[in-house]
Amino acid sequence: MPFTTSGLHHVTAIGGDPQRNADFYLRTLGLRLVKTTVNFDDPGTYHLYYGDEIGRPGSLLTFFPWRDAPPGRVGTGQATTTAFSVPEHSIGWWKQHLEDAGVSTSRVVNRDDEDALHFRDPDGLQLALVAHPQGDPRDPWDTPLVPGEHAVRGLHSVTLSVTREDATAGMLTEGLGLRFAAEDGNRFRFTAGDGGPGATVDVQVTPDAPRGLVANGTVHHVAWRAPDEQTQAAWREELTDRGVEVTSIMDRQYFRSIYFREPGGTLLEIATDQPGFTIDEPLLELGQALKLPPWLEPDRERIEHALPALDLPAENNPGQQVRA
Ligand code: ZN
Repeated sequence: MPFTTSGLHHVTAIGGDPQRNADFYLRTLGLRLVKTTVNFDDPGTYHLYYGDEIGRPGSLLTFFPWRDAPPGRVGTGQATTTAFSVPEHSIGWWKQHLEDAGVSTSRVVNRDDEDALHFRDPDGLQLALVAHPQGDPRDPWDTPLVPGEHAVRGLHSVTLSVTREDATAGMLTEGLGLRFAAEDGNRFRFTAGDGGPGATVDVQVTPDAPRGLVANGTVHHVAWRAPDEQTQAAWREELTDRGVEVTSIMDRQYFRSIYFREPGGTLLEIATDQPGFTIDEPLLELGQALKLPPWLEPDRERIEHALPALDLPAENNPGQQVRA
């Protein structure tokens, strides 16, 4: 297998009201808004990127937040749970912090030596905070809203729900270069390299669950890292040769993307690490202004007019004047 991803790049989900979405991920979860742009395929909708200070691959959860989004249904053929990595000593702090913010949480569960706390975002998206016993070396976004000591380190993993695991396992191992790591009842864990936070996917076999419906409160797709455009292009060829229906390479401004479905139904993406989020605005100003790709700039006035205003916490851009 010539191509092997190094781990998760981002997860993209559908949300409801953009302000409520931003308040939850910035103020309650303490992530940074690293880009405010629009859905390139539907420029009447925001595309909000949350991550660490610079939006490193593996730290990103992104949303198409849409006030009129119809409710989705969590089920098979979907990434049902998105988990973030936090320090081991912080799980108790987070339980209290979320409860103080009015978010109901599960009891802390231990699986595979990892403590996990489950909860939902305001639109019902299933989330978890997971503490890996070996820790997570990634630098957090340190803000007064969530102190660095406890802050999210990046994505930990996603859980894919399927009716049977064999074909999905084949795609993860042969298509993405992941390796089978562990089995626990109806859960199969696959990892990139040695695994750990940001390099883990759990496949949960739930033949009796309803079929998932991608809309508000559900994951749209899961993206995996490719180091560069040359690798991505060759990877695309290899997937095509294997009979996988892959899109053409799309310019997402902050990375290049190809998309395809794993046999269980979840939409997957392979995204490049480059060029990243500082390509069109300075690090200190990330997320503050609406950024559009060159091909949408001629429509800026109409696009801006159609989008609801967003009020960001000042902590997102310390030392900067936040736009009104
Ligand atoms: Zn994506």
